[in-house]
Amino acid sequence: MAFKDASKPSGPVALANGLTVEVNRDLCIGCGGCTALASGTFGLDDEGKSVILDSADTDTKETIQGAVAGCPVGAITAN
Ligand code: SF4
Repeated sequence: MAFKDASKPSGPVALANGLTVEVNRDLCIGCGGCTALASGTFGLDDEGKSVILDSADTDTKETIQGAVAGCPVGAITAN
């Protein structure tokens, strides 16, 4: 798995579309919802926590915002 920023796998990471994406690893329950809704942007690491992938720029801003809205624990921010 390739991270967008290997030094900060769960962000914050600035994307080409202007969003800065971050996952709160303490809140993430590893449900996989974001990986389904924005598969280019999110993946689950070995700890079952969501990380931001190197392919994040292949998802639209709207797709990523959909994943933010779909997270059941509000763990993702993208502003
Ligand atoms: S949708 Fe939320 S809780 Fe589920 S894996 Fe993604 S960040 Fe974690």
